[in-house]
Amino acid sequence: MSEQGLAIRDGNLFIAPVVNVQGALQRYQDMKDFIEGILRKDVDYGVIPGTGKPTLLKPGAEKLTTFFGLSAEFQIIEKDEDWTGKDHDGEPFFNYWYKCRITRNGKIVAEGEGSCNSFEKKYRYRSANIKCPSCGAETVIEGKAEFGGGWLCWKKKGGCGAKFKTGDKSIEDQPRGQVKNPDVADIVNTLQKMAQKRAYIAAVLLATNASEYFTQDIEDYIDADFVAVDPEPAKPKAQPQPPAPSNNGQDLVDVAIAEGGEVVEDEAVEYYNRSTMSLETAEGVTSSDGTRYGDLPTDKLAYMANAIQKAMKKNGMSHEKHEEHQMKLDAIRVILASRDG
Ligand SMILES: [Zn+2]
Repeated sequence: MSEQGLAIRDGNLFIAPVVNVQGALQRYQDMKDFIEGILRKDVDYGVIPGTGKPTLLKPGAEKLTTFFGLSAEFQIIEKDEDWTGKDHDGEPFFNYWYKCRITRNGKIVAEGEGSCNSFEKKYRYRSANIKCPSCGAETVIEGKAEFGGGWLCWKKKGGCGAKFKTGDKSIEDQPRGQVKNPDVADIVNTLQKMAQKRAYIAAVLLATNASEYFTQDIEDYIDADFVAVDPEPAKPKAQPQPPAPSNNGQDLVDVAIAEGGEVVEDEAVEYYNRSTMSLETAEGVTSSDGTRYGDLPTDKLAYMANAIQKAMKKNGMSHEKHEEHQMKLDAIRVILASRDG
């Protein structure tokens, strides 16, 4: 039999989809609502003008992980640490390669890999600033030709205002532009985190089927530091709540919903893991008035947990809402457990 023959399929074979159309539509809508209602531009994802899909950032990947009830674990596949540079022409070299495994209830959902090494342009080089011979600050700029050229220690950048003539050796003999980073060994931790982050985002995109909405292509953009422009955390889109029938616990449910908060980002590389949520993460969840769960008294937390549990027993709750409630409940449990005894 030829190899080609192997590829001929049985004409009677019918492969049924594992998800029905209604389920797929619902999932698509849930995802769309989540992205539009919860994820914040420039914090959770970035958009570069002129490019197609936005780029998923680590905080956004963490929210997707929470939303889908996933856990992430890391495994180092390979590393290369040449501290003295003996194998790299005297230049220290570091390379890290990680695998991120995404699981849900112990079952593997997806795996992603990511690596990072010190020969990447942004780690291998740094731009050398000219040091002012007078004050020592790295604030020297080139004077504009129309103002006579030369060099100026710029006061606006914290310099002393000293001026230097074009051709001044104390300025012009200094290395300028891209120079090799002399402290590569100091960024080992950064390289490891970056490799993990790349693996993590790749795995989350796969696990959540989010590559339809996001890309990971633009590495430098992912690595950029973002500052939230909007001081108000984005709220989930207003969910029309049916008018509360009196006295069936709805008041408690309303309290629980009103207490709705969102996970506060932690700058440290700490992947949110629902089944083993850290106390730090749990305490960082905030209620609608910005109070950290960690700052709430035990009786208030217990009351909220009770209300959330009641709310979750109601039918017709969206998957998204259910997950959100589950996250809050987990956070409260972790905090209460830590306070016990
Ligand atoms: Zn100066």
